[in-house]
Amino acid sequence: MGKLLIVGSIAIDEIETPFGETGRILGGAATFIGLAANQFEISSGIVSIVGEDLPKEYLSLLKERHIDLSGVEVVKGGKTFYWKGRYHNDMNTRDTLVTELNTLADFNPIVPNHFKDADVAMLGNLNPSVQMGVINQMEQRPKLIILDTMNFWMDNALNDLLDVIKKIDVITINDEEARQLTNEYSLVKAAEKIHEMGPKYVVIKKGEHGALLFHEKDIFFAPALPLEEVFDPTGAGDTFAGGFAGYLTATNDISFENMKNAIIYGSNLASFSVEKFGTERMQNLKKEEIDKRLHQFKALTQFNIELE
Ligand code: AMP
Repeated sequence: MGKLLIVGSIAIDEIETPFGETGRILGGAATFIGLAANQFEISSGIVSIVGEDLPKEYLSLLKERHIDLSGVEVVKGGKTFYWKGRYHNDMNTRDTLVTELNTLADFNPIVPNHFKDADVAMLGNLNPSVQMGVINQMEQRPKLIILDTMNFWMDNALNDLLDVIKKIDVITINDEEARQLTNEYSLVKAAEKIHEMGPKYVVIKKGEHGALLFHEKDIFFAPALPLEEVFDPTGAGDTFAGGFAGYLTATNDISFENMKNAIIYGSNLASFSVEKFGTERMQNLKKEEIDKRLHQFKALTQFNIELE
């Protein structure tokens, strides 16, 4: 069975949308990645840090889904990373109201021995120096290293971010962040510049407008499924990354062709994640629902124009 190492925040989130407010709920990049990746037959483990204030049932929820948490440090008397965001009426744009790093501020990650030989490493959004610390602890280089990041780290730790970007194979980043990182408006030019920074594969996420995969001169596009109801987009990007990484780990095939399928699986899972607040939808997702929606994805993009 393929092994996936996940690094990222486990958080307490508070979310405000035009539909209501959540109060304190489970969030964090590693949480969403893990829940998505474990839809596949893989062995996965999270490296992260939380405080004692994190309700015990949140970690149990991840354990019950067979995610190995031996790399999650619980700091006595510490406070868990806290993030608060508010969505605008279009549900596409959001303001970050509060980011409290708390225990994440001086996190020294320790990769458990049984994950030092992971096939794939998914470096979810957190401090780039922590992402680098994890790469450096691997016994052998994973076949694939995927990195996700956000504007917060471009604003606060750009040099560390550029250092870790040099070491990875795939970056997943949203359109505005790709523009910020490269000073290019065109996403094609932005992807070219990011290739030059290191990653052979660049995935640019465009929210409700889908995702683009760039590899040398090849480009692939996957739409997002048009949904009747978008309730809370928080974690959609991480769910996408988790589906992408989980599928590649399970299939043990990192060709461009297989990455196209991985993008579709990632988009498919993200389409569920946004239907309820926080992790609620991903906790109860059934295989039949996933398969049914894959058919919808196929129908959405299939056409039969005969070309010479
Ligand atoms: P997404 O909607 O995919 O961008 O991810 C949202 C998740 O990222 C939330 O659950 C937050 O807890 C987490 N998050 C937000 N800001 C940060 C940050 N600076 N570092 C790590 N995780 C973050």
